[in-house]
Amino acid sequence: MGYRKKDSKNQNDIFAQESYRVRSLMSQRKRKNELKARIILFGTGLVLVVVLTILAFKLAGLNKNNNGNGDNVVEAGAPSDNKNETANKEKNEKQEQSDDQKEAVNTVAAKGKKRWLRDGLDSSKPMVALTFDDGPYTPVTSKILKVLKKYDACATFFVVGSRVPTYEDMVKQAYEQGNEIATHTYNHTNLTQVTTKQMKEELRKSRDVIKDAIECSFSNLRPPGGNINDNMRNNIKVPMIYWSVDTEDWKSRDAKSVLKECKVIQDGDIVLMHDLYPSTAEAVQKLVPRLIKQGYQLVTIDELFYYKGIKAEAGKVYMSGR
Ligand SMILES: [Zn+2]
Repeated sequence: MGYRKKDSKNQNDIFAQESYRVRSLMSQRKRKNELKARIILFGTGLVLVVVLTILAFKLAGLNKNNNGNGDNVVEAGAPSDNKNETANKEKNEKQEQSDDQKEAVNTVAAKGKKRWLRDGLDSSKPMVALTFDDGPYTPVTSKILKVLKKYDACATFFVVGSRVPTYEDMVKQAYEQGNEIATHTYNHTNLTQVTTKQMKEELRKSRDVIKDAIECSFSNLRPPGGNINDNMRNNIKVPMIYWSVDTEDWKSRDAKSVLKECKVIQDGDIVLMHDLYPSTAEAVQKLVPRLIKQGYQLVTIDELFYYKGIKAEAGKVYMSGR
């Protein structure tokens, strides 16, 4: 019994020691597990903070782009239906607060949405929109601007973007007189012959140079050569403007011939000319007073659409204000 007892006692000791070892091992493991859990928790937290910070920066970047008209390449400057309308509105409200700027630009032009519109035109009276492509070119554009100013008339200049930096003063003057500055692409590119990416680039660059010259962008495009395809219809987010009267001034280079082509003008006509030829300026000097005498109001493309109740849509082609 004694041995047994002793054995039993020893066994009990061994059990006790084992049990202590197991307990201590378990508590060590527990501590390790707790430490592991803490490390994982801390790691996850850290990753979460980093991810959230990156997201916050990205969002801030996006907002910045939107405010600055960053990537809306083809959407150029459509005054209405613009995603950045709020930003533009704020910008224009700030502009309106500045008296200097108020005087510098056409009074209605400063109101953003109606920037190519003048108040006080009579929608019940006939209108005609003279349009000039391929410029600016000071020797011709300046003469046209002088006549327009004299008769309180406005027209639309579809400028070639690459020419704008050279003749920036013409663009500014045209704009300040209330004329519309629209685009004829950057390099006078046939947009049906290029990739969508190149097409967007043409319009983005045009927008940039126009914005550098005046504080807003264009709202209409005249496709070079009158070339249009479905890709343009689907991707260009401003209306595309054709014409109802072709003066063929580039062909005749003769003022009399240009005037002859304009003999039968109708209400809502869009007249195609080019401010590259002295003969065109010569024709305009006679055409403007003649049209005014006939009772026409000489208006921009935006004015023509607005006063004729036409809601010009992006990517659609318009030949007249009828
Ligand atoms: Zn052209």
